[in-house]
Amino acid sequence: MKEDTKLIHAGRSQQHRHQIVNPPVYHASTVLFPTMDAIEEAQAARARDERPMVYGLSGTPTTFALEDAVVAAEGGHRAALFPSGLAAIMAALLATVRAGCHILVTDSVYAPTRNLCDHLLKRLGVETTYYDPLIGSGIAGLIRPNTAVVFVEAPGSLTFEMQDIPAIAEVAHRHGALVLMDNTWASPLFFKPFEKGVDMSIQAATKYMGGHSDVLLGTVAANRETWPLLRDAQRQLGQNAAPDDCFLVLRGMRTLRVRLERHQANGIRLAEWLRGRPEVARVLHPALPDDPGHAIWKRDFLGATGLFGFELKPGYPRRAVAAMLDGLEHFGMGYSWGGFESLIVPCEPARIRTATPWRSEGQLLRVHAGLEDVDDLIADLARGFERLSATG
Ligand SMILES: *Cc1c(COP(=O)(O)O)cnc(C)c1O
Repeated sequence: MKEDTKLIHAGRSQQHRHQIVNPPVYHASTVLFPTMDAIEEAQAARARDERPMVYGLSGTPTTFALEDAVVAAEGGHRAALFPSGLAAIMAALLATVRAGCHILVTDSVYAPTRNLCDHLLKRLGVETTYYDPLIGSGIAGLIRPNTAVVFVEAPGSLTFEMQDIPAIAEVAHRHGALVLMDNTWASPLFFKPFEKGVDMSIQAATKYMGGHSDVLLGTVAANRETWPLLRDAQRQLGQNAAPDDCFLVLRGMRTLRVRLERHQANGIRLAEWLRGRPEVARVLHPALPDDPGHAIWKRDFLGATGLFGFELKPGYPRRAVAAMLDGLEHFGMGYSWGGFESLIVPCEPARIRTATPWRSEGQLLRVHAGLEDVDDLIADLARGFERLSATG
């Protein structure tokens, strides 16, 4: 079966759905067993890593359906679900670290991941070193005997630097470290982490998989070797995703391909148009041929989603930028992304980074290209630039 067909069929086992197209939403804590034999059989099946129904927290047909769809789309051996993307990141890290170990995390990482490393993980005796996202096989120089994990994320969701993940994974594995990836930007469709050396891949399904700005959910897909670590951590942490949220993400996945194609096309059109504007210093979008990360993107990725950045030329005062942004009609100003609507936010990556300085003189703006008609988006931004230049 080709990938797009798999996305339509994944997680739709006939067993529980009585000929209805979508699997039902099971709300459950208690699961009843008719006999003592049945309860013992279910526990034995769970010990064999099968998915019997034992208790709501350990999964229902609704959660299993989404787990299957994640593996069908992203690859790996098995997947586990979490109540948010950040909870999924926490679980993947807690599954793979121990007190006294060292981890390497890209300096372009999602800022709340950094917060987790700098506080909770530090308190538990895990030391984090942030590395230059462009380091490639040079990561070898930072590996220590106790390095347990190399965490990658490409492109970074503020600065859009690409990482040479196969090169990093080769070095990490040679030294016995695992590679964890936040693969949210590409979604499961545009980067295949397990073909590039990643051991556990995290998705904030809140973004493109959900796709409608109305659900929080995280997924971790693991290869065969790391699955037992992830499974045990999920049980120990007592986390899973809520049934209605699983339903929404599963529904979002049926249309993921067609939505992504439009996000990609609109994003590239906007990025190209912005690159030609006199107010813009540079555009950060790996699908543009002159982007520093373009060669890696072309080699390793299967497409671009709708999230990218651009930097204004220096010298525009804050009130001019505010006039530009406040008056936009089609771009909401808000965090998160991956929904059907366009968004724009100002960001300050220089303040977050510690390993490598982020140099920019003008204001950086992050754009999420939604599914609107791109001509309306361009006209809206053009009026924004008029306000920017008119406000002295
Ligand atoms: C949003 C996001 C997350 C976290 O997802 P939540 O569901 O909001 O917790 C993780 N990584 C990246 C790159 C994100 O953009």
